[in-house]
Amino acid sequence: MKKILILYTGGTIGMVKNPTTESLEPVDFQDLQKKLPELALLQMDIDVESFSPALDSSDVGPKEWKRLAHSIARRYDEFHGFLILHGTDTMSYTASALSMMLKNLRKPVIITGSQLPLGDLRSDARENLLTGLTFAALYDENSPVIQEVAIYFEYKLFRGNRSTKFSAEDFDAYQSPNYPILAESGVRLKVFYENLLRHENTQAFTIDDYLCNPEELHFIRLLPGIDLGHLSYLPNIKILFLQVFGSGTLPQRQDIIKPIQEFVSKGGKIIILSQCMQGGVEFGKYENSRIFPLLKAISGRDMTPESAWIKAMHLWKHPALSSHDFQAYFEKSLAGE
Ligand code: ASP
Repeated sequence: MKKILILYTGGTIGMVKNPTTESLEPVDFQDLQKKLPELALLQMDIDVESFSPALDSSDVGPKEWKRLAHSIARRYDEFHGFLILHGTDTMSYTASALSMMLKNLRKPVIITGSQLPLGDLRSDARENLLTGLTFAALYDENSPVIQEVAIYFEYKLFRGNRSTKFSAEDFDAYQSPNYPILAESGVRLKVFYENLLRHENTQAFTIDDYLCNPEELHFIRLLPGIDLGHLSYLPNIKILFLQVFGSGTLPQRQDIIKPIQEFVSKGGKIIILSQCMQGGVEFGKYENSRIFPLLKAISGRDMTPESAWIKAMHLWKHPALSSHDFQAYFEKSLAGE
């Protein structure tokens, strides 16, 4: 019998409507369990650790990511797999953070939630939770099929750090625009083995929970007509994400280029991401992206903004890296992102 640890953080899956304010509020796991008697019928040995109070995922951040990583590390040998119940709003950030903190992970860490609370008649919570558990317990003989941090949502299993929430109202709320799905659930579970992450090294599982304080990181989405003059008033910023157009184009106006050049000349680093969900940046494809190599810009390629932001937090000022190493490490894959 497989042993699975459920880590309950909160989110819509476990919310109920406050009769006075009419707003959804998270409730404790015990209340959730009562609404899902099927849990007791599963051929699994399930243990639960809950956040108390349960959180809306907009309140989940570095402190909670570390807490989850440490819970998994502490109980890694004891369980066959892990299922995190989480709000959908920031699930991709948590998945990205855990994928980078859990080094040489060789067990399933599945994250799921739902668009409607478990108690609602038409809720998607039951299927997400029960199939999420099934993926957390899926083994081929003695080896776990999933050996990475994945998000299970509406019949699809995604690589966590490639996923993004794209709908606030559809059950089909998640996408992985630049990486194929890992598995899907229908009458049978279909696993796409060629898409799964496998560590080629033989190093043991460990955690590295380093995340910088993001006060030196800044994110700007370039909008037509935007003025970047304010950059000179942000002397503490060392890493600037620029989410530019299409495959990486930038207006050639001096009021855009000059502040960026000044920022770089003072030692700042720029990371270029695309505003398109699908595809990525390609320096030099257009005349309007030839400036980036001259600015020693770092390419975020086809990474999601969620994953790129977390990766920068994980690598910037990492005690084992010099600031010269930042670019090289940022541009290489840490966990299939
Ligand atoms: N606001 C909720 C959360 O992220 C939304 C959800 O779970 O779907 O916690």
